[in-house]
Amino acid sequence: MNTLVRIQVICEDEEKGRKALKQAFDVFRKIDHLTNRFPEGELATSSPGDVLNINGSAGLKPVKVSVDTVRIIQRSQYYARLTGGAFDITIGPIMDNWGFGKGIQYVPADEEISRALSLVDYRKVEADPGKGTVFLPEPGMSLDLGGVAKGYAMDEAVKALREAGMKHALINAGGCVYALGTRPDGEPWRVGIQDPRSNGDIVAILSLKDSAAVTSGDYQRYFEQEGVRYHHIIDPSTGKQARDLIQTTVVAESATDADILSTALFVLGPRRGMSFVEDLPGTGAVLIGPDKLVSVTAGLIDQLTFTGNGGYQIVG
Ligand code: AMP
Ligand code: MG
Repeated sequence: MNTLVRIQVICEDEEKGRKALKQAFDVFRKIDHLTNRFPEGELATSSPGDVLNINGSAGLKPVKVSVDTVRIIQRSQYYARLTGGAFDITIGPIMDNWGFGKGIQYVPADEEISRALSLVDYRKVEADPGKGTVFLPEPGMSLDLGGVAKGYAMDEAVKALREAGMKHALINAGGCVYALGTRPDGEPWRVGIQDPRSNGDIVAILSLKDSAAVTSGDYQRYFEQEGVRYHHIIDPSTGKQARDLIQTTVVAESATDADILSTALFVLGPRRGMSFVEDLPGTGAVLIGPDKLVSVTAGLIDQLTFTGNGGYQIVG
């Protein structure tokens, strides 16, 4: 998943804790293997995972996949429909265009983008949960689960920790955080929301308990050309960078949902994003625009403490 995964568990039985940690890390490895488009190191030498198989069989035949892969795809498709395609896991050809994942990073010509865009359409994905198969009907189509895989892995890792009897844990996987239970002193976990324009600084502190907070940003993966930042979150309606926000954080009980939504809201932008997420029960969001204006959903205000750093201004 191209990121550092840090898992902290607090428990009295050290051996039990170590075992739980190992199981949780194994979950991340398993989901990484299933979903990775460009395996490196250990993953490259093992048998190909589901996404590699699905993409390799585009236009040819349905591929038998694991239950996890079907679940990830179904949840993604659910939100793809809800967001009118702002979230679209068939974004693969466009990501390749911009050189995210593999290859050289450069600004593609408009013709390249429109050619790739003709292959991007979540409605074409044929997922059959009964048979456990997935099919991309056109050659050249490819799935990119980069906007959801971490969150799903997180939920499964949390499940593993709970099954192993863990009551207090904090997982952090590159912008994706899950607070299991409370801190050992009974207080909620406190998690910083990063300043999108100042590495290491914090815009706000979030109190979290049994929920996920997932952040998407234009600084997580990008390249610069002629002074312009080209980042990795693409508006599927244009094939180009979504530019109405620079950072989104979504809080929800499900890390899968929060991960999908952080990416989706980034694409929707502040206006459409806020009206969409305000209607989703159990879901909060903090959206930061290029003008340093911060929008917060009403239900989340009580869980947030703004630091006042960086000149951010809260609206609404
Ligand atoms: P995240 O960091 O969770 O916002 O995910 C960003 C990643 O999701 C990118 O690196 C791509 O792999 C993928 N992605 C980019 N744009 C989209 C989109 N509009 N819908 C779904 N996935 C996307
Ligand atoms: Mg995401």
